[in-house]
Amino acid sequence: MEQLDNPVEVMGIDAGGTMTDTFFVRADGEFVVGKAQSDVDESKAVLESSVDALTHWGRKVDDVFPEMVTCVFSGTAMLNRVVGRKGLRTGLIVSKGFEDFHRMGRALQSYLGYAFEDRIHLNTHRYDEPLVSIKDTRGVTERIDSKGNIVIPVRLHEAKIAARELIEQGCKAIVISFLSSYLDGRHERAVRDVCLEVIKEMGADIPVFASVDYYPVRKESHRTNTTILEAYAAEPSRAILSALSSKMGDHGGTFDLRVMASHGGTIGWKAKELARTLVSGPIGGVIGAKYLGEQLGYENIACSDIGGTSFDMALITKNNFAMHQDGDVARLVLSLPLVSMDTIGAGAGSFVRIDPHSNSIKLGPDSAGYKVGTCWPEGGLTTVSVTDCHILLGYLNPDNFLGGVLKLDVDVAREAVKTQIADPLGLSVEDAAAGVIELLDLSLRQHLRAMITGKGYSPRDFVCFSYGGAGPVHAYGYTKGLGFKETIVPAWAAGFSAFGCATANFEYRYDKSVDIGITKDSSKDDIEKSVKSLQVAWDELKEKVLEEFRINGFKDEDVTLIPGYRMQYLGQLNDLEIDSPLTSLSGADDWDALVQAFDDTYARVYASAARSPELGFGITGAILSGSVETKKPKIPYEPIVGPNPPKEACLGTRPFYYDKKWVDADIYQMEALQPGNKIMGPAIIESDATTFVVPPTFKTFLDEHRLFHLIEC
Ligand code: AMP
Repeated sequence: MEQLDNPVEVMGIDAGGTMTDTFFVRADGEFVVGKAQSDVDESKAVLESSVDALTHWGRKVDDVFPEMVTCVFSGTAMLNRVVGRKGLRTGLIVSKGFEDFHRMGRALQSYLGYAFEDRIHLNTHRYDEPLVSIKDTRGVTERIDSKGNIVIPVRLHEAKIAARELIEQGCKAIVISFLSSYLDGRHERAVRDVCLEVIKEMGADIPVFASVDYYPVRKESHRTNTTILEAYAAEPSRAILSALSSKMGDHGGTFDLRVMASHGGTIGWKAKELARTLVSGPIGGVIGAKYLGEQLGYENIACSDIGGTSFDMALITKNNFAMHQDGDVARLVLSLPLVSMDTIGAGAGSFVRIDPHSNSIKLGPDSAGYKVGTCWPEGGLTTVSVTDCHILLGYLNPDNFLGGVLKLDVDVAREAVKTQIADPLGLSVEDAAAGVIELLDLSLRQHLRAMITGKGYSPRDFVCFSYGGAGPVHAYGYTKGLGFKETIVPAWAAGFSAFGCATANFEYRYDKSVDIGITKDSSKDDIEKSVKSLQVAWDELKEKVLEEFRINGFKDEDVTLIPGYRMQYLGQLNDLEIDSPLTSLSGADDWDALVQAFDDTYARVYASAARSPELGFGITGAILSGSVETKKPKIPYEPIVGPNPPKEACLGTRPFYYDKKWVDADIYQMEALQPGNKIMGPAIIESDATTFVVPPTFKTFLDEHRLFHLIEC
């Protein structure tokens, strides 16, 4: 009966490369976290992880799924499909004469992700394989100029031939992307209809994507890449999500499955624009950090998330995260609004090798994935990983990986580290493994510092949140000496991204490019026209947003709509995203309010003295977000008990290699620790899916919200 009064309402899922985490929230806000190894069959891992989580409440999946209202998924499968070029074979139709622009990727794709010193050397630039090969690309004669005038009418008979050829060649989807189509989409839509006719005639069953229907924005490389991703990467994910949704249905679930999207809200898996879920897991962590910060009064947060494969960093300033309008992902320029994050391919499962040229240790960029290292009990991996070093040095307990489900083989790891790293470098096994850990710590620390100082801030202004299964393992190492106000490790660090997913609102956001320019010489009539054109763009986007909510069964009146725009001083290169101070615009008098909101934001982001109103103002984009509030988890609260850990939390000691010597670290069981407990390093606090390392010269205490505060003595 108690369960009916207090049903499980929300579930968050983070299907990462190594682990699949689940996070369940009850009506009273209490939550539990589950873990399972990731699997090629994502629904299998999700179910196993759910069983693991619900065991804490002594409940079964078949009883809980029917109670749930909503479930939010985040995962890396779509991104991996893009990186590995394993997507759906897609045909591309472009303006004739521009068949090569997709391969050229604005040239800048050839050095995306490079360090500055490599960017400036042309000989280091490299082009990845394009998503669509030139063989599967066709040009169709047409042209719309940069003002939106039709200068060459579209030749539809060419489109017909192109579509037929692409289908005969074996393409499983067709994307149409013409120059300037965001100004006038008629050519693209006419070709789209021709393709649909040809598909019908040929009895084929393949989807067609016109860029104007999805991303009506300027910059054709960005727009084309993003539309291609809808076909190439998102359609296969849709199939996986559909399978997951029906598997959950088999266990009694009637809830909507939603997916974390790059803009920081969640969208339905049936959403038209699913490519915006390309990056989802790490975004979940940032949303969770923002929520936690809002609840507990942390305004400025440096988010740091380490899992098996990557280290993701983001900044929250004054409770807000920055957005990239056209960020890049996987070395592709895209038109997706993206929570601003920095990622490096180094994690706790990264492979470790000796560089034959410099005879130095190199980490990654590839990693052991769910098989974690040579210590994997079923064998199969021969290259040393960071995890091998962790278990050798006592950082991780080889008998407690995933709560002991997997017993990692320390002897195999020792032998592998000896032959692959220690012997070639002439070091002891311990020093070689410790060198690997130090190198990882140093590299993470440098990236974190660069990310913060590069944006003009100092770590002193921030609290660092450390999460992901391996965040607490390395928190001491990558924060050491940076001077953060505090370093905080949530006790549920291992499921933090899944927690973040469970805190995210149901939110759609659509963007459209507009061209508005107003100077001091503009007439009232010009301003009137401009204001109206922004309102027309908002109306168009509003319809798209509401349509998506309708697909998920929401009524228009349930949705809170927030219009926004991107504005700049005329002639400047960068614009800023502004939430509109007005919900609708009626005439020229509203212009001043739009300008005022921009001026204020500009002064906050840069400096008051940098404002340049004399240049005039331009609006480059219209934005409309719609959201529906969802049930949020409650931040844990338990009263302070006292400084001494209870007996049941003390698990004895184990040898731990730190700073070139073996020390005896006190071992604690994380869940058994009580608020107020103080622990001096060397200590290691173990949980089923994460391990908090407190080396000598560090100490920690657990507060009443189950947050550990790590302090350098
Ligand atoms: P994540 O990808 O966020 O789930 O993190 C996975 C990483 O968590 C692993 O590669 C380990 O380095 C780290 N970890 C720390 N303690 C444990 C544990 N008890 N079980 C599993 N992974 C752990």
